[in-house]
Amino acid sequence: MLAPHIPHPLVRFARCGGFAMALVAPQVASAEGPVSAEEVERPATWDMTVEELRAIGLGQYRGDPVPVPPDAPLAFDPDEPRPAKQGVIFVNFDGANLQSGWDNSKTNTTQISQLAGPFAAYGQGSKREATMQAVRDDWAPFNVIVTDTRPASGDYTMNMTGPTNPFGGGVLGIAPLDCNDSQTHNNITFAFHSANDQFSASTQATTIGQEVAHSYGLEHVDEPGDIMNPYNAGGNPSFTDQCIQIVSNQGIVCGSQHAAQCGSSNMQNSYRELLALFGPAQADDTPPSVTITSPADGAMYEAGASFQITADASDDVGVQQVDLYVDGSFSQSDGTAPYGWNVENIPAGTYTFYAVARDLSGNEAQSNEVTIEVTEAGGSGGDPSGGDPSGGDPSGGDPSGGDPSGGDPSGGDPSGGDPSGGDPSGGTGSGGGSGEPPPDEDSGPVDTGPFPPGYGERGMEDGCACTATEPNTVAPLALVGLFLFGRRRRRV
Ligand SMILES: [Zn+2]
Repeated sequence: MLAPHIPHPLVRFARCGGFAMALVAPQVASAEGPVSAEEVERPATWDMTVEELRAIGLGQYRGDPVPVPPDAPLAFDPDEPRPAKQGVIFVNFDGANLQSGWDNSKTNTTQISQLAGPFAAYGQGSKREATMQAVRDDWAPFNVIVTDTRPASGDYTMNMTGPTNPFGGGVLGIAPLDCNDSQTHNNITFAFHSANDQFSASTQATTIGQEVAHSYGLEHVDEPGDIMNPYNAGGNPSFTDQCIQIVSNQGIVCGSQHAAQCGSSNMQNSYRELLALFGPAQADDTPPSVTITSPADGAMYEAGASFQITADASDDVGVQQVDLYVDGSFSQSDGTAPYGWNVENIPAGTYTFYAVARDLSGNEAQSNEVTIEVTEAGGSGGDPSGGDPSGGDPSGGDPSGGDPSGGDPSGGDPSGGDPSGGDPSGGTGSGGGSGEPPPDEDSGPVDTGPFPPGYGERGMEDGCACTATEPNTVAPLALVGLFLFGRRRRRV
């Protein structure tokens, strides 16, 4: 059993955000039913006043959460109970360029306007992994996946973790307050921590957990043992299974969510509220599914042809990435849907492709195998489009006239800067080299085509210098064995 916390016999005063506020001492009630939170040893700092904490270098504030504005679009009715659904938390240590708008983690869009713009990366070092472990420990009771790699598909809450802090050093984080997670499953939250700051991994994880939990409707409680305590009091707080008085500078915002667990809109049970949203932890052993959709098995091409390999992948939670294998060797990864790769100027031979998809829990699945035949050019009629069983060139043009590699004597622009050069449909109309990107180009964010410069130049058998780079960088063309892989685009 968790021993009820004995309330402080004092009322705390603190300054925050330029105005004084009074934090009343907590009223702690025992939760009904089994108590799953383990007894926590209370560090001495948990019984200190904010002034005492500050005197020893603690007492930093985790900012007041920002309620979702009344005109925000809501994906769900915040007062309507919903079945528990597995959650995904992406702890982004790598920085991002954020834009302003309604929250969408997938497009790096934040509704906290002060954070629009570049957000710096966390920094290198071992603390990142320690903090990740601490975050996983804090969320372990719940059916929530915690990852530090951006999911390729599915919904995820993104916590930006880095030193960009428009509020000053006394503030550790901020987040939208999304009651019952009803605005969107794709909120963005912020923890102003870095690899080099003075805070422990545990404290960093507490900030990250608190900010993410704000985006699930949890507010502040005056209990240092609970992750939702706004002041840094050290130690290793958890989401505690007890109904605790909410403290707020702005009135209680998510009252019906709290009342559902505690019978009172001004008491919060952090543990029970998260359990209601996500359910208890359970192993994810359901693998993703993945299929190579093009080219078709048995497809034939003429040497020098260019075409695309495309794959569909899905998962019950989220796909992490899809890897392409050529003749049994790993070739390249794609971390963003839709998944695909350009093959350019292919030499004669027989090639077998398959793809491997990995989900956020590390489950893997292999696709169908596709074998293609590439014949020597010139000897057999000369129209390579005749041999393309994938439906031929939709442009109807002569593919040999628009041979993208033929137009570039350097053998491929390594910067990838010529969008038409790598497009097999680039021969449309203009006889090659149209300056305009074709209309069928991906309309979404620029695909990562996640290859570092120079990757593959020593041939694919060298294996991989091939981990994903940052999203939203335009990939260079990369010579892989005798293939040129370019920035892929969707072929209609
Ligand atoms: Zn907070």
